[in-house]
Amino acid sequence: MLAEIITIGDELLIGQVVDTNSAFIAQTLNNIGVSIYQITSVQDDKAHILQAFKDAESRVDIIIITGGLGPTKDDVTKKTIAEYFNDTLVRDASVTKNIEDIWKKYVRQTLLQVNKDQALVPSKAKVLMNELGTAPGMWLDKGSKTFVSLPGVPFEMKKLLVNKVIPKLKEKYKFPFILHKTLLTYGLGESTLQIVSSLGRSIAKTVRLAYLPRLGSVRLRLSSKGFNEIEVRERIDTEIKKVLPLIEDAFVGFEDEAKSLEAIIAKRLTNSGKTLAVAESCTGGNVAEQFTQNAGASAYFNGGVVTYATESKIKVLGVPKALINEHSVVSAAVAEAMAKNVRDLFNADYGVATTGNAGPSKGDSDADVGAVFIAIATKNRVVSERFMLGLARKRVIKKAVNKALEMLEKEILKN
Ligand code: ATP
Ligand code: MG
Repeated sequence: MLAEIITIGDELLIGQVVDTNSAFIAQTLNNIGVSIYQITSVQDDKAHILQAFKDAESRVDIIIITGGLGPTKDDVTKKTIAEYFNDTLVRDASVTKNIEDIWKKYVRQTLLQVNKDQALVPSKAKVLMNELGTAPGMWLDKGSKTFVSLPGVPFEMKKLLVNKVIPKLKEKYKFPFILHKTLLTYGLGESTLQIVSSLGRSIAKTVRLAYLPRLGSVRLRLSSKGFNEIEVRERIDTEIKKVLPLIEDAFVGFEDEAKSLEAIIAKRLTNSGKTLAVAESCTGGNVAEQFTQNAGASAYFNGGVVTYATESKIKVLGVPKALINEHSVVSAAVAEAMAKNVRDLFNADYGVATTGNAGPSKGDSDADVGAVFIAIATKNRVVSERFMLGLARKRVIKKAVNKALEMLEKEILKN
């Protein structure tokens, strides 16, 4: 089954708004076995929209449209849909009520005609009620083909797609069962390529393998589809049994169980009642943020400090000045002292520290750009490692964060 996505909006074509809707729709449709044949973005312009509809209809069965339904766009999208379907716009009572309700609850001003007119829909359309906003979604059948028009506001679009569109698509079409299993790995490095290419050769034809690198972590996704769910599950399990021994050291879990390494660490620490503290230099709080962005962090995250200047490492963390003079501020010795001291300072079970030179030019030390030392302190020992993480500042920081998580996870597993 094939679908196309058409996003409408001048703002998309001048780069003011990034088209995130398409990515979400593509993912969601892929999950139910619908492949996306093409994604098109067009201006708020009747002729362009008509052409896009015609082209898409000639290629696929399902056409999902977003955008152009706001009150200020002169209803170009709706008028164009009506024209395309040889239809006229009629006022929908339930949408009118929804708009009035929203106005009563959230808006003080009087309801303007442009707002009232958001209740106009093509007479042939089935309304998909948008409880989160005033622009309704619309479903239009054209024989075996389906057009769906959704508002551009991402959170409104998402809710309508997931709650209304997907169930209706499942009623109208028969989709195969699709299973994706994603293996999350950290620290696989260059050897991954070899593993992946050898896997690619030995894997069953009915299973697809995708390799998704992401700054220090690599996700391996196995996918298969078919109308017999049990068969599909067996196929994937068979391949996973082959893959796991090859990536043993780097494997941290399946993505559906825990979305990320920080989530896995969070779970382990919470379950064991252990705690964590971080001392960051070049990562500037990004390691701490990995934990605090998730609810429940207070169970294990005691706190952290960003000791960016050399002076702060001495004053706040009590790293001895002599140690810094002897080894330089970007060194294994300093990283280790930071990890050890922050662990004490926050009375935590694990201390994590980063010190490095993220570039683009040299800072407080003579260390090469991209050189980062990461240390993990536990009750019994302190380990550290030196990494060379490239020249691009933002990437150096992100990679350093991932390396810190990776090292922390390894230490947690050892204890
Ligand atoms: P208005 O009349 O208020 O200008 P509009 O007709 O432009 O509205 P929509 O096209 O539905 O209304 O878009 C509403 C908002 O949703 C846009 O301002 C934009 O920020 C966001 N948006 C639209 N299309 C997309 C998209 N493809 N991806 C991400 N965001 C989008
Ligand atoms: Mg728009």
